[in-house]
Amino acid sequence: MSDQRVRSVVVVGGGTAGWMTAAALAKTLSAQGLKITLVESEAIGTVGVGEATIPPILTFNAMLGIDEPTFMRATKASFKLGIEFVDWGAVGETYHHPFGTFGLDLEGIKFHQVWRKFADLAGPIGDYNLTEAAARRWRFALPDPDPSKVMSSLRYAYHFDAGLYARFLRGFSEQRGVVRIEGRIGRVDQNAGTGFVEAVVLEDGRRVEGDFFVDCTGFRGLVIGQALKVPYQDWGRWLPNNRAVAIGCQLGGDGLTPFTRATAREGGWQWRIPLQHRIGNGYVYSSHHVDDQRALDTLLANLDGAPTDEPNFLRFTPGRRERAWEKNVCSIGLSAGFIEPLESTSIHMIQAGVTKLLALFPRNGVDPLEIDEYNRLTAEQVDRIRDFVILHFHATRRDDTDYWRYLSSMTVPDSLARRMELFAHRGRWFPSEYDLFHEPNWLAVLLGQGIVPEEWDPLVDSLPEDQVRQRLSHLSALIARTAEAMPDHAEFVARYCGAP
Ligand code: FAD
Repeated sequence: MSDQRVRSVVVVGGGTAGWMTAAALAKTLSAQGLKITLVESEAIGTVGVGEATIPPILTFNAMLGIDEPTFMRATKASFKLGIEFVDWGAVGETYHHPFGTFGLDLEGIKFHQVWRKFADLAGPIGDYNLTEAAARRWRFALPDPDPSKVMSSLRYAYHFDAGLYARFLRGFSEQRGVVRIEGRIGRVDQNAGTGFVEAVVLEDGRRVEGDFFVDCTGFRGLVIGQALKVPYQDWGRWLPNNRAVAIGCQLGGDGLTPFTRATAREGGWQWRIPLQHRIGNGYVYSSHHVDDQRALDTLLANLDGAPTDEPNFLRFTPGRRERAWEKNVCSIGLSAGFIEPLESTSIHMIQAGVTKLLALFPRNGVDPLEIDEYNRLTAEQVDRIRDFVILHFHATRRDDTDYWRYLSSMTVPDSLARRMELFAHRGRWFPSEYDLFHEPNWLAVLLGQGIVPEEWDPLVDSLPEDQVRQRLSHLSALIARTAEAMPDHAEFVARYCGAP
């Protein structure tokens, strides 16, 4: 362990990652005398995308003590109940990946096993998930805290304007003592002996010293990559998408849906994320299969309203840093890695990074064992997410373009191949402690893309058929009734986020 006590932290970069990190550090550690400085450059700006989240974001905001309607007003947010996937299994097919679970286990037997046996009369499995039932009806209500109520099973996250979220967290952080320095960093100074970072030096010569640095410089990876030379694993062979073009448009078409829409295209997929004031859209694509102009034309031809800004072209390499934390530098956000935006996991990985950093915060100097643990946990978590994202591209019957032919026939990581096979055979799915996406998430995508288990658990045959039928029809009716009784999502948002 180094004997250097950590009294000051420099957060390098002020995008979503930088301000989420600064806010969490300020909330938890500034009272103990930790000095927090954040350096960002308006001239460089932020990546400018990242608008869909997953339910754990509620825990992050709650940890900060943020009032939900205030946050939603400030970030122009809407509620997200899941993702609608269009044309993924095959052109013309649509399914939902909702948050929340499907049905209730019967006599200790997994619900999906029961559903599989009775699939012909049970209807779609989505009829047994309240969150999906609400999403399909474009309805929303807050979950009931009483676990005996069916409304307690509703799960949600948000769509929000990431730039406004960063601004909101900046206000939060500055009020709690974080010092912001505006300027462009030109150099990173390291100790000649240990290689530890001592300061970042701005182009105008100002030197910002610290005991510990959090690299939030986005794809540049200014400290972790350029200075410390930590290698980056490239996952392009499984995730060929390496470009995106994003643009906002006026609210139109389906309006304020309580779900993200992900539509598969010839060489990638398009997102539609409704906010209170506009719709965020983007086409994520593989440059090996589609050129920039064609991607832009496709995007512009598939907007719900007139564009509200100029197209923003982005390039990325899907993958992750070999080690997210090296010496006295922890990378969080895009500098640590980026899978691709399909399942909205990037902001979550910021949250997961900050949470782990807080748990292992090196008050008394960095400890190689703790660094190792941080890196091991991060790698395991990201690798499990990677498998889940690859599943969407690989489990397809599409063969209409080279892109889809490549994806459906490529060799996938062994960890994914095993899960797919176990499920296809008898609907088995075994958890790993690092999973962010659990059985219901995998069920939604596997079944949604046409992988139906060949057999069901033989234990299902021990259940009396009449009773099972009765319970299935009771449950789907209860869920449908509950969803119908919820208010319209757009109306709910207007009321909830209206003037305080
Ligand atoms: P950035 O936003 O790039 O911020 C980098 C910061 O570093 C900036 O403040 C910049 O000024 C500063 N900086 C860099 N170099 C210097 C320098 N030399 N001197 C001073 N400052 C410097 N995530 C989700 O969770 N959901 C989504 O729906 C989603 N969609 C996405 C779609 C696309 C196409 C892409 C590419 C990403 C998406 N993401 C999404 C990821 C999400 O955008 C990022 O995780 C999030 O915005 C965090 O970015 P960041 O803060 O790491 O980097």
